[in-house]
Amino acid sequence: MTNTFRNHPDLKPLLHKIQTSIEVNIIHRPLKFMEVCGTHTVSILKYGFRQYFKDSIKFLSGPGCPVCVTSAQDIDKIIFLAQQGHHIVTFGDLIKVPGSHSSLEKKIAKGATVDVVYSPLDALKIARNTNKEVIFIAVGFETTIPVIASLVLDAYAQKLKNLSILCLVKTMPNVLRYLLSHLTGQIDGFILPGHVSVIIGSEPYEFIPEEYHIPCTIAGFESVDLGLGVESLVEQIRSRSSKVDNRYIRMVKAEGNKAAQVLISSVFQESDVSWRGFGMIPRSGLQLKEDFEQFDAAQKFDIQVDEVELQTACICGDIISGKRSPLECTLFRNICTPENPVGPCMVSFEGACAAYYKYGE
Ligand code: SF4
Ligand code: SF4
Repeated sequence: MTNTFRNHPDLKPLLHKIQTSIEVNIIHRPLKFMEVCGTHTVSILKYGFRQYFKDSIKFLSGPGCPVCVTSAQDIDKIIFLAQQGHHIVTFGDLIKVPGSHSSLEKKIAKGATVDVVYSPLDALKIARNTNKEVIFIAVGFETTIPVIASLVLDAYAQKLKNLSILCLVKTMPNVLRYLLSHLTGQIDGFILPGHVSVIIGSEPYEFIPEEYHIPCTIAGFESVDLGLGVESLVEQIRSRSSKVDNRYIRMVKAEGNKAAQVLISSVFQESDVSWRGFGMIPRSGLQLKEDFEQFDAAQKFDIQVDEVELQTACICGDIISGKRSPLECTLFRNICTPENPVGPCMVSFEGACAAYYKYGE
């Protein structure tokens, strides 16, 4: 099915139709659309949307890459745990992300024990085969959280005593609320994250048109998917209306995936969490419920990290809040590259800087 949407013969006419609609409806200034999700950033650059609409639409990156939004202090916590000799289990991208003074990659070179996994459930096998304390670094959004919940439930059922998670997971709706209250009048429309929406559905975003009157679309990731999403935003602006328009209907239901939601709420509860570039945002993350506190690395270990002000020219915080583009960073492409990333936006494949580096001009 995916190929139907890639290099689709309808794409060019669709883009032409959108551009004509912008011109005919005399929208004089460039429209500002925020693509919340890192994979959408990649698609926008890869399929040439940024270039095609360069005079009529400005695409702003959002806080939709789990690696990019993990704060330097949280990276410091991971490094602290690794330095204590614990066995760290994590997703690959996190290894290269700089904390305030080092990265996990540099600690591996000095002997830290770190395993990179594709699934959180791999941590179970690792824990069963070692006497060390195994700590899974739980990052991600609603897309990944159900599997992390399964990991905790399985560890509970297997009575594992040497496995815990450092819970750094984040949830999407309240960071959007935060953005809207801090970027008033600067976003004309949201392209909402497709994979997150598969889990939570479209309903949690309804406050955006209702309270802020800003058009929203849930779009897929292929070229025509994205075109349909952009068309929806332009159409809503043209008709002076706003709603959450689900253009990813083959994957996303209004109510989302109920089974995944039940799984998440059986293990986690809402909490205030810190985001890179934003600071603490109320109810924008999750923590383990009391029944599962034994698996909470933050409670199990005495983690000591300093609050350090980052002294770097990296503007990742501004990039993931839509204030600036990677091209405005003085380090982009000369000092900061995917081989030598200065900030997280250059580390992850979904990071805005990495996407501009690969596909941008
Ligand atoms: S998990 Fe997928 S949909 Fe969600 S923000 Fe990341 S890339 Fe986008
Ligand atoms: S180019 Fe590098 S230093 Fe600049 S914002 Fe991006 S990640 Fe940070």
